[in-house]
Formats: sequence, C-alpha cells, structure tokens
Amino acid sequence: MGLVVQKYGGSSVADAEGIKRVAKRVVEAKQNGHQVVVVVSAMGDTTDELIDLAEQVSPMPAGRELDMLLTAGERISMALLAMAIKNLGHNAQSFTGSQAGVITDSVHNKARIIDVTPGRIRASVDDGNIAIVAGFQGVSQQGKNITTLGRGGSDTTAVALAAALDAEVCEIYTDVDGVFTADPRVVKKARKIDWISTGDMLELAASGSKVLLHRCVEYARRYNIPIHVRSSFSGLPGTWVSSEPIQRGGKKVEQALISGVAHDTSEAKVTVVGVPDKPGEAASIFRTIADAEINIDMVVQNVSAASTGLTDISFTLPKTEGRKAIDALEKNKGAIGFESLRYDDQIGKISLVGAGMKTNPGVTADFFTALSDAGVNIELISTSEIRISVVTRKDDVDGAVRAVHTAFGLDSDSDEAVVYGGTGR
Ligand code: ADP
Ligand code: ASP
Ligand code: MG
Repeated sequence: MGLVVQKYGGSSVADAEGIKRVAKRVVEAKQNGHQVVVVVSAMGDTTDELIDLAEQVSPMPAGRELDMLLTAGERISMALLAMAIKNLGHNAQSFTGSQAGVITDSVHNKARIIDVTPGRIRASVDDGNIAIVAGFQGVSQQGKNITTLGRGGSDTTAVALAAALDAEVCEIYTDVDGVFTADPRVVKKARKIDWISTGDMLELAASGSKVLLHRCVEYARRYNIPIHVRSSFSGLPGTWVSSEPIQRGGKKVEQALISGVAHDTSEAKVTVVGVPDKPGEAASIFRTIADAEINIDMVVQNVSAASTGLTDISFTLPKTEGRKAIDALEKNKGAIGFESLRYDDQIGKISLVGAGMKTNPGVTADFFTALSDAGVNIELISTSEIRISVVTRKDDVDGAVRAVHTAFGLDSDSDEAVVYGGTGR
C-alpha cells in the first residue's frame, strides 16, 4: 500500500479530545499498511484569535510579523498531535512548513507555493514514522522568511505535499461529511455529492465554498491528485474530487447537470464614481489596484448616476483588502481623474455552478426567476461557461441560496445535512 496524505482542519483538532480522536484515526491508517503524512491546521479559531490580537497592538500589522505570529497556531497542533500519536505507541515526528520543504514566493499573508522539497518527510516516513506537517505555511525562496498561504491554506499544503510525495490520495478531513450541493450551515436540505469534477469544484471553491480552498483544487488538477473530502467525526465515505468519475458498484457516477450553489459574504464592493468616459480610464484604475497586489473579482461599468459624460466603475474584492484599495485609489485620484469613491461591505454573492449550464439555455432564466420569486434584488452579474454569479444585499444571501437550491431540484428528501463542529467563523 502506498502513501496517503491526510489533512485535519481546525474544527477537527479544536481541543485535546479532538486531537486524541484524530490521533486514533491517523494510527488506523498506519495500521492498515499505509505510509501516513498528516497536515494539521491551527486548533479551532486560533488563527482568528491571533489576528484579533495582532490588530489590538497595531491596526495594520506588518505582513512579515503577522506571518510569524500566525504560523505559531499550526505549530501548536502539530506538536500536540505528534505527542498524542506517541502516546498510542506509534512513532511520529512533527515538522514546520519550512522543515517540510514548502518553498513559496515572498508575498506575505498570501504566498504561493513555488516548490516542494519534502526530503525530510520522505526520510521520516521511510524510517517508520508518521510525519506531521504544519499546514498553511512555508518559507520564501528569496529572503528565507516565514510565509503563510492565505486563509484556509492548509488544504493547499496537503495537496502540494501529496503531489510532491506521489501520494495515492489526499484526504481532507473536516466538520461535514463531504462537499454538499450548498453550505449545510445555510441549507439543511443540502445533499452530499459522491463525486464532483475538479472543474466544477474549482468554480464552487472560487465562489466561496470554503470546504476546499480553490488554490488547493487548482493544484490537484495540475498534478492529477484525487481528493477525498470527508468528516473526521463520522467515518462515512465523503466526496471524491477528481478529473475522471469514480466507479460505484461497477457503475460510473454521472456528472450532475448542476453541482451546487455557493455563497460568499467575505467581499466588498468599491464604486469609482464619475470617471471620464474615455479610453485608458479602466486601465489606470485596475493598474493601481494590481500594483497594490489586490485581486479583484467582478467588474461592471455604468453610466454615472452623478453626472453626464462620466461613468461609474464598480468592482468587488475581499473585504480584507478594502482599506488598501481605497488608499491606493485615493493616492492616484489626480492621475486617474474620478470624482469620489464609495465602499460597501454589506454585499453577498450567490453562484450557481454546473457543467450542464453549457448545454441548457434555460438555466440562467430559471436562476433569475428563483431570485425574483424570493424578492431578491440583483446588483451585479457575472458568468463563466459553467457558473453564474450575482451580487445582492448581504441580508438576502441565505434566503437566496435556499430559493435557488430548491428551484434547481437540489433539496434532499432524506436526512438533514450534519455539521459536526466548528463555529462557521
Ligand atoms: P476546516 O476547518 O476543516 O478547514 P472549513 O471551515 O474551512 O473547515 O470548511 C468546512 C466548512 O465549509 C463547513 O463547515 C461548511 O460550513 C462550509 N461549506 C461551505 N460550502 C460547503 C459545501 N458546498 N459543502 C460542504 N461544506 C461547505
Ligand atoms: N489556520 C489557517 C486558517 O484558519 C489555515 C487553515 O486552517 O487552513 O485560515
Ligand atoms: Mg478550511
């Protein structure tokens, strides 16, 4: 039997009991004959608590120091898990991201993995150990600084290690039984998906389904690593994410027409009001944003409500980048030549995802009908080949997700989806 990488999220290792439960499960995999590499997240809401703490001492903490602080969360879990496994009579060694060979670029707080050199991990498992790796962190190639991979980044660590170690599978253990047709915290009648293509999973993850981070799915697609998302609490089979359908009872599981509904309330909308309607204006606005290393999501341009001959350009971005974007645009106000800026963080995004959209022209109309029947007003729209997204008021999001889920026949008629742990923070 080959090597497996197992990743346990924060809710699975939230307290000492959780760590002991995870230790038992890891040992089981080892006893079944696998070489086991485990990636752990920080316990419970530790990362959020550390960020709150940093903001109490400085409103805009330096990226380098924030990374140094946040990586401490994962170090705590990795050491405790190694101790718990040793207590069960098995050998385990813990490693930081840097020791595990996770090499990144130098962008603090959202670094990208550029190489993985897992020599020490390979040696450790070849010696009969269970190797425990701190997720969400690495070391920059230039400067050798400690970096973090962005919120939820332990998923990426796990898939990157699975690729570098040529693992059979990357198992992502979390607080729900797999990937559902919607977030089970919002839609009680969400259905567990047995298999989802990496393409659809990529869109769901990019649209806010935080059960998997989209960078991790990108990585899995590039290196063809099958992911099995499952609960660390229940032991039930979960969701397989792979490019090719899995076999069930000798039959191929079919690709669903619509995979699911995702929502995201972590974004804000910036409107640049009163932009001269001439070539080059959008370029200078988005050059300013790009130079500040901010990723944007949706963009729309409208005739200005304020004055004639001018346009308004709105775009969405992560709330955490809001301050930086406003500061950057204000600084270039003279050069860009707009009238004012508006910032709105009371928005939410709802997305419908499914490869079936390509060939079913009615999907868009049905989506808008469901939203209108639920009395939801639409502010922005964007589409891809297999996704349609809208921005609405934040307060409308949960109702809209449920309405769309029902309208597309995704509601399950059996058991309600179970959420085993976590605070949903
Ligand atoms: P972990 O701490 O294990 O990384 P996360 O909180 O990052 O866990 O991700 C698991 C959570 O993702 C679930 O508790 C659920 O609320 C949320 N979620 C959002 N969309 C989905 C979905 N489509 N299927 C399953 N879970 C989802
Ligand atoms: N602990 C980090 C976070 O909360 C990374 C992770 O859990 O994946 O974002
Ligand atoms: Mg996560």
